Amino acid sequence: MKVIDHIRESGGKTLLSFEILPPLKGKGIAAIYNHLDPLMEFKPVYINVTYHRSEHIFKKRTDGSFEKVVIRKRPGTEAICASIMNRYNVDTVPHLICGGFSVQETEDALLTLSYLGIDNVLVLRGDAAKNETSFEPEPGGHKYALDLLNQVMNLNKGIYLEEELKGTNSTQFCVGVAGYPEKHFEAPNMQTDLMYLKKKVEAGAEYIVTQMFFDNKKFFTYEKQCREAGIHVPIIPGLKPITSKKQLTNIPRTFYVDIPTELSNEVLKCKDDADVEKAGTEWLLAQSKELKAAGVPVLHYYTLGKPHVVCNVVKEL
Ligand code: FAD
Repeated sequence: MKVIDHIRESGGKTLLSFEILPPLKGKGIAAIYNHLDPLMEFKPVYINVTYHRSEHIFKKRTDGSFEKVVIRKRPGTEAICASIMNRYNVDTVPHLICGGFSVQETEDALLTLSYLGIDNVLVLRGDAAKNETSFEPEPGGHKYALDLLNQVMNLNKGIYLEEELKGTNSTQFCVGVAGYPEKHFEAPNMQTDLMYLKKKVEAGAEYIVTQMFFDNKKFFTYEKQCREAGIHVPIIPGLKPITSKKQLTNIPRTFYVDIPTELSNEVLKCKDDADVEKAGTEWLLAQSKELKAAGVPVLHYYTLGKPHVVCNVVKEL
């Protein structure tokens, strides 16, 4: 079932969704099941599975020279989605990115998803490759999420890259896109970022999932700005627990979001990470309760290796 239909049929009730990463190469699918088993008790309506592009690394040879090698640390997004659907009978939302894909590979990935009975995708640009300073599309690939979205919309109309194909099947993807309550780090200002977000919605995105934030005021302001800019699709807050002191610097550096002073002061007072986890759980619970009371359509949790923290929060909701 499509994410947008879950939201429409919820009767205004706030739903739950979880986001997971594919396991590191070398670990089996059991790693995913162990992560999800405790979370499934809370009846999420769908599970998002992130996508990780290939990276180039330089491997030292025995003669001291270096060899450039392409590796993919977390492959398998499409197959993991199918396994989750099969095991838990829940909908899945694979992430699809521009980075590392040609348009032909994107079309094939979309067809694979459609054959697997997956009718949701979260369409993203992806970040710069680890060895690059800014995002570079693949030769013949998409530069912005909007371009990838247009390809999905074409396929939904039965328009394939090979235009001469006749009597084509139309896919049925419901597409979500990313939004940034604290602005995407490359956007010159919020208004410009919102202008591009609006283009994604006008092109067919049916809902927005936000980057994580730790101050609900930022989410509420963003929602208002979106509505004023003429963006009227559901906006789903993305939420993440703080569980260690080092996240106070890692999270702002990686995701370009602020940690409110009140939360950072609490974390700094903690004697160890077990204490931080308690403070982070309380903060996330308070955030979740306020968002739920405000009537957000879905609470979307980035569960990244800490499913028990998210369990402790959602069981109190
Ligand atoms: P876009 O919408 O393309 O925007 C990128 C930047 O370009 C913005 O600054 C925007 O304002 C600007 N822009 C957009 N269109 C234009 C235009 N036509 N002309 C000029 N400027 C333009 N990354 C992964 O690699 N894998 C994942 O699974 C993943 N999941 C994510 C899930 C969520 C909910 C979020 C919020 C992010 C996720 N990311 C993921 C990270 C994401 O790929 C990065 O944040 C990326 O830098 C931007 O992606 P986007 O889809 O928002 O890009």
